[in-house]
Amino acid sequence: MMEAMASSPRALGTTEVAAPTPRPATGLRAMVVEDERSLADVVATYLERDGFEVTICGDGLQAVTLARQVDPDVIVLDLGLPGLDGVEVCRQVRTHSDAYIVMLTARTEEVDTLIGLSVGSDDYMTKPFSPRELMARIQAMMRRPRTGPAAGAPAQVAAGESLRKFGDLTIDVQGREVTVAGNAIALTRTEFDILAALSRDPGVVLGRPQLISAVWGPNWVGDDHLVDVHIGHLRRKLGDEATRGRYVRTVRGVGYRMGIGQ
Ligand code: CA
Repeated sequence: MMEAMASSPRALGTTEVAAPTPRPATGLRAMVVEDERSLADVVATYLERDGFEVTICGDGLQAVTLARQVDPDVIVLDLGLPGLDGVEVCRQVRTHSDAYIVMLTARTEEVDTLIGLSVGSDDYMTKPFSPRELMARIQAMMRRPRTGPAAGAPAQVAAGESLRKFGDLTIDVQGREVTVAGNAIALTRTEFDILAALSRDPGVVLGRPQLISAVWGPNWVGDDHLVDVHIGHLRRKLGDEATRGRYVRTVRGVGYRMGIGQ
């Protein structure tokens, strides 16, 4: 126990290091995937200021490989990239990562196209954008809990209190796991948080502003329309029909509420 912990930069159990650091290490990692180097640097600087360890990458193909190594919490991803475009990068990264992905687009119209493609990004920003606003969104998201319990730990712990059941749908709020008829459903953070918000009080209809407040935080400034996009993805994964959801019901002109799967 008396080994030279202080000399090791990664010493465990010594959290009470006195010297205040100007840039506290948060243990969070971010990737900036953008071939316009000056823009990448600006975004990286803001992220570093907030305590992120940042990896910059200017090539789509390389980004896919790097994302596996870095396992980032946040990815700021440009749509137009050499190697592989942002849509394809997003799709491939999504197969193994629940990182918060913000897509950068050159034109507003591209957002609609992206939404149609449902590539699995969490948010979109059109260039030119305010780095401050980007950071505000990222910060709001980072206040949300991370997905899933530690892997490889078979949870024998009674999680009964955090289980919510709606027909065949079971939501483990604590473990952040969702099953339909016993089959695990892989949701992104945003999709899970929307489902958690809706199922918290199943009789209550939540409007878009309320969902935004519950999921992204009360200070989030963005498009209500994003809610519909994520609801669409959520329904598809839960096996809901587009028009009349079984689990996520549309209440016309008001918002959404939980259904019981029928
Ligand atoms: Ca670009």
